[in-house]
Amino acid sequence: MNAGPGVPPRRAFSPAMARLVMKFGGTSVADVERIRNVARHVKREVDAGHEVAVVVSAMAGTTNELVSWCRDAAALHDAREYDAVVASGEQVTAGLLAIVLEGMSVNARSWQGWQLPILTSNAHGAARILDINGQELVKRFKERKEVAVVAGFQGVHKDTGRVTTLGRGGSDTSAVAMAAAIRAERCDIYTDVDGVYTSDPRVVPRAHRLDKIAFEEMLELASLGAKVLQVRSVELGMVHNVRIFVRSSFDKPEDIDPHGTPPGTLICDEEEIVEQQVVTGIAFSKDEAQISVRHVPDKPGVAAAIFGPLAESNINVDMIVQNVSADGATTDLTFTVPAADYDRARDTIAKAKVGIGYARLDGATDVAKVSVIGIGMRSHAGVAAKAFRALADRGINIRAITTSEIKFSVLIDAAFTELAVRTLHTLYGLDKA
Ligand code: ADP
Ligand code: ASP
Ligand code: MG
Repeated sequence: MNAGPGVPPRRAFSPAMARLVMKFGGTSVADVERIRNVARHVKREVDAGHEVAVVVSAMAGTTNELVSWCRDAAALHDAREYDAVVASGEQVTAGLLAIVLEGMSVNARSWQGWQLPILTSNAHGAARILDINGQELVKRFKERKEVAVVAGFQGVHKDTGRVTTLGRGGSDTSAVAMAAAIRAERCDIYTDVDGVYTSDPRVVPRAHRLDKIAFEEMLELASLGAKVLQVRSVELGMVHNVRIFVRSSFDKPEDIDPHGTPPGTLICDEEEIVEQQVVTGIAFSKDEAQISVRHVPDKPGVAAAIFGPLAESNINVDMIVQNVSADGATTDLTFTVPAADYDRARDTIAKAKVGIGYARLDGATDVAKVSVIGIGMRSHAGVAAKAFRALADRGINIRAITTSEIKFSVLIDAAFTELAVRTLHTLYGLDKA
């Protein structure tokens, strides 16, 4: 049946026989016991007749430890060797899961990025997937009913053959790219929460799970700090039309009906969401730093003199506020950069002082960005104004504001992050009953 123009036909959650990607994050594979639990989830789907590619992260804490070893070895290290080191965490879990699956009489084998291969760009530490060859996996699904256990987070540079990694949280992206490559019906992201919530449930106990969220909103949530999915995975899902379903790995594997619809959140097209709220979710990030350039000449070319050198130094600038000049001669310019780039950004501006001609440089790292997201904002006025009032009532000072069609962000003192997020969560009616 055709549901009409623009409305995609409804797809069953789990057709009788489907091809699935199942991704398990670090907490879900934190030790061998949890890997056994993961294997039982996989076995359930295999027994139901599905073809399965599993993508695994490193055991919880492993990647952090590997990163810190690289830093201890040399503060400034070769990014190619960093990748060789940090990619190893996923190799371990892929092998262990294949061993456990074999022990349960499920045919399985592990795959590292270079073995498939998963070809990437050469941006070591933040590589982009260019192509995945899924042919061999599909052949093995058909011929041997073999489960593919793929190491997430890693790939191989298409020309040099060097191991690459995809940036922190990158196993989500491996999974969605794999789903696109093998044309999977669904990409299940199993994690330590049972879906995408209206805000981080660790910070907002009253947050509630969303049954569905539009790709565009998920993209904003993820890029504004909700780390439940890596941003790039959502982009890929949107471009390749992959159905991403976020669900819990802690549900008892045997209690789940492989043909039913378990609790979780489907990331889907906007048209599939029947009841669209004005505000869908609230994200926050403490990884921001603020820099204010005081008394710069109020004349053409000043913004270029400041942001040109920052761009050349590969520093991403996010929020920008320029005051209207009070005296007609000088003004202040405030912007934010990732906290990790704060020192470098200050150095870059200081080196360009002569060209810019400012009087003083101020900065702060104890700031946070709180963002409110919702497609409904396109058609509703005054959504942000309500927030400014509510924050003021709580005595929270706003340092900078940015808005776009489906979100707005405020920069505040980091100490007020939790209070601000909870206040806005209540204000927009997101608290669970
Ligand atoms: P994994 O190791 O499985 O990849 P992550 O730690 O990367 O898991 O992501 C899951 C975490 O994301 C949750 O534990 C939760 O604290 C956090 N999170 C942040 N924002 C949200 C949100 N809006 N909905 C659900 N989880 C969120
Ligand atoms: N293990 C990697 C990380 O911790 C990738 C991932 O977990 O998705 O960032
Ligand atoms: Mg993650």
